[in-house]
Amino acid sequence: MTSPVNRPTLTALSVSALSTLALSASVLWAPAASGNELVTRKTDSGSIVGYKHTPLMPWTANRYHVHDPDRPVPKRVTPGLPPTRPEAGSAPSDAIVLFAGEDLSKWKPASWKVQDGYAEAGAGSLETSEAFGDCQLHLEWMAPTTPAKHMMSRGNSGVILMGKYEIQIFDSHAVHAEQIYPDGQAASVYGETPPLVNACRRPGQWQSFDIVFTAPVFEGDKLVKRATVTMLHNGVLVHLNQEIMGPMAHCQIVPYQSHPPKLPLVIQGHGSPLRFRNIWIRPLER
Ligand code: MG
Repeated sequence: MTSPVNRPTLTALSVSALSTLALSASVLWAPAASGNELVTRKTDSGSIVGYKHTPLMPWTANRYHVHDPDRPVPKRVTPGLPPTRPEAGSAPSDAIVLFAGEDLSKWKPASWKVQDGYAEAGAGSLETSEAFGDCQLHLEWMAPTTPAKHMMSRGNSGVILMGKYEIQIFDSHAVHAEQIYPDGQAASVYGETPPLVNACRRPGQWQSFDIVFTAPVFEGDKLVKRATVTMLHNGVLVHLNQEIMGPMAHCQIVPYQSHPPKLPLVIQGHGSPLRFRNIWIRPLER
């Protein structure tokens, strides 16, 4: 653990070098505007990289900026062993199976390859043909063991519910000299809320997300209920009825905008060869 009160040490990195990682405008990973620099907070074990020029988040009582490296780092928890390892799990009988290791026919065409029972992220994101709102979602993913070109592409993907609200996928197990900001680590509500704990397994091991999501509710253009997420990462609770404050964005706070009650699910392609298997969803009709 490190103290959030450590004085940050400013280190300018090339933001333009990161722009090559912004593979799809639709998934909103855009480079920061010119002059906005990554900053590095030194810790006992290395450093945490993030941003300080970004807006303060009202839901933290304005204590932290979006992607703030000074935010406390979630405690590490070693998950127990799931009964399904190393084989893929399977879906309950009433689920819509989105991927069972054979093909991506439930998804719009994408350059992701399927082999040996898994799908591997290619260029661009994967989007379901069907739209979903409130749901229970399960998926299994594996971060690559190959070295990333940059710390921001270290097993970077994401589950983007309704194509708008991202639960981050990232290698947050390996201890590197540079760690990503807590609201961008694995199982964070990206750019908003870190997970309660860090239950990440190491790269090359299968991991599970079990997500219960409720969609935002609008009356006309007015938001009347925020989206929420309750979630297990490798069987460990990482969010409980956590409100989602707005659509996923990089370095920004973006307000809700009215949208249909059901939209396609997106799995983010971010230039990392993440692997996925056993993806299923149970729409919650209430
Ligand atoms: Mg992501």
